[in-house]
Amino acid sequence: MSDTRALYEEVILDHNKNPKNFGSMPDADVVQEGYNPLCGDSFKIYLKLDGDTVQSVSFEGHGCAISKASASLMTTLVKGRKRSEVEELFHVFQEMLKSDPESPLDTEKLGKLKVFSGVREYPVRIKCATLAWHALVAALHQQEGPVSTESGS
Ligand code: ZN
Repeated sequence: MSDTRALYEEVILDHNKNPKNFGSMPDADVVQEGYNPLCGDSFKIYLKLDGDTVQSVSFEGHGCAISKASASLMTTLVKGRKRSEVEELFHVFQEMLKSDPESPLDTEKLGKLKVFSGVREYPVRIKCATLAWHALVAALHQQEGPVSTESGS
């Protein structure tokens, strides 16, 4: 294991143990549920909007270390961003997760999301890493009904 990989795993473990913005938000504008039936990850995303800008976001629920750490990191990255910026960030994240594990990372574009680069070697875990993002994007579109990683999109 490289030092970089060890550092990334430490960041993921830390977010899992001490998740950021964890808990319900009584005055949320949108509450979106998201499920990953393959792994059993289940979260609720609470979102407060200012126009199409994320004013605040929190989450609660349970899931594996990757899903929880990803939700936690996400909440720290999207605050103050417009819907289009959140979608662009999610796109960059998904492209990285689907890329060849040997290919170089665009670390500048990825920023803190690069800690999840190890997930490239475990394609089945991609849905864990993206669950909270799918739920957030659905919340930003005020989509009705829960999001499932098995529903196609
Ligand atoms: Zn999972």
